[in-house]
Amino acid sequence: MRTLITGGAGFIGSHLCERFLREGHEVVAVDNMITGDLANLDGFRTNPKFRFVGHDVSNPLKVKDKIDIVLHFASPASPVDYLDHPIPTLKVGSLGTHNMLGLAKAHGAKFLLASTSEVYGDPLEHPQKESYWGNVNPIGIRGVYDEAKRFAESITMAYHRVHGVDTRIIRIFNTYGEKMRLNDGRVLPNFMYQALMGQPLTVYGDGKQTRSFQYVSDLVEGIWRLLQKDYHEPVNLGNPAEITILEFAEEIRALAGGNSRIEFRPLPQDDPKVRQPDIARARALLGWEPVVGRAEGLKRTMDFFRKKLGK
Ligand code: NAD
Ligand code: UDP
Repeated sequence: MRTLITGGAGFIGSHLCERFLREGHEVVAVDNMITGDLANLDGFRTNPKFRFVGHDVSNPLKVKDKIDIVLHFASPASPVDYLDHPIPTLKVGSLGTHNMLGLAKAHGAKFLLASTSEVYGDPLEHPQKESYWGNVNPIGIRGVYDEAKRFAESITMAYHRVHGVDTRIIRIFNTYGEKMRLNDGRVLPNFMYQALMGQPLTVYGDGKQTRSFQYVSDLVEGIWRLLQKDYHEPVNLGNPAEITILEFAEEIRALAGGNSRIEFRPLPQDDPKVRQPDIARARALLGWEPVVGRAEGLKRTMDFFRKKLGK
């Protein structure tokens, strides 16, 4: 089996490379390094079954060797990153997804789209089920990411219906773990960096907004299982354990063992007030649920950042 992973040098993409290599697949990682880090490939760069291709998937890509699975994970994912790169984000979600569906069609390959809980926007239904259509501001600053992913879902379903491509769609909820970029601007790397460096923890708004954090190995397991099923509708993959951002800051500060103070900053525009996955579909379909709780997952991630920072 040969699996092509777009965004393979990113946080989740590199964990997928590792897992698929472990399962005996040949892996082709395609990345233009807009938010990736080549160090993420260190553990398997020299594996003869691994190949890296530097390419922007918003431009067409031809691959000679037969591809069996395309995992489309290329896209800036941190709000700070997609606000820095609004047009590349729109392009990779739209043109990039179109190109990768075309590649999957040409090879008769399975195609899996990394969609996101952001398709639910600032949700008016809580927790979020896959049947919820969402509450997205198309012209707000987050719209470049949310609408690109919504378009990506639409074109994925169209390729399935019109061309019979064997597609999957996952809606990923906030996922964390080793190999996140320390400066990607997401809440967990920010808080861990600040707590380890003895700097104030920057809580946006009053910190009462919630998120539900999933450890990366649980996500990877869910993806692996979904690929074995003949199922084409979206599937939420996330950990339903919901927490306020203020509590999250306190948890990380305690884990770091420091005494950083908490500094409140303005809440960015359209920041979702709540987010929690309803994972009934994944439970029933995949017999899947998260197994790594926050205490364990945060500890592993903090150890990774400690090493990076020499702390
Ligand atoms: P990341 O920024 O670490 O990885 C994204 C990778 O895609 C990077 O290596 C980047 O260089 C690459 N990339 C971006 N545009 C590209 C292009 N045009 N061509 C080739 N490569 C390109 O982010 P991540 O957290 O690993 O996210 C991976 C995917 O999962 C994204 O599609 C994201 O939308 C989705 N997702 C992630 C989360 C999360 O919590 N981490 C939640 C929901 C969805
Ligand atoms: N956040 C925060 N401080 C930070 C970074 C983020 O309080 O230094 C908040 C942000 O406003 C949001 C939540 O943490 O409410 C999660 O933000 P993140 O950027 O990780 O991703 P999101 O879930 O919004 O896509």
